[in-house]
Amino acid sequence: MRLVQNRIEKSEKEWKKVLTPEQYHVLRQKGTERPFSGKLYYNKEKGLYTCAACGQELFSSNTKFESGSGWPSFYDVISSDRVRLQEDTSYSMNRIEVVCSSCGSHLGHVFEDGPAPTGKRYCINSVSLGFKKEE
Ligand code: FE
Repeated sequence: MRLVQNRIEKSEKEWKKVLTPEQYHVLRQKGTERPFSGKLYYNKEKGLYTCAACGQELFSSNTKFESGSGWPSFYDVISSDRVRLQEDTSYSMNRIEVVCSSCGSHLGHVFEDGPAPTGKRYCINSVSLGFKKEE
């Protein structure tokens, strides 16, 4: 593992060692978990959602909302530098992929049909997230 300017770089072999097979598939191979399957979809506790791969804090429970999509949904990021947005044209769709800015792992996608005040819907795989409950 290398730490380069707050970025975590690991080889795929190293990621495989520290992630579960499902996490590895979603985070490192840009997979998608089955909707309504993730344990954080229904989570209503107050706290911070982190990257399951590297631990960077990404989303606050204050911005989580019920989207009905089956995936944890947020209308904002803790700060814009926590994620990188990149074009994703896979499956003949035009989507914006959301990846962790620290380790490059796949988190989900962001859509423009979210609620006020941002109008964004960060649609994030539960398996890509950890949760730190507010003390
Ligand atoms: Fe990360």
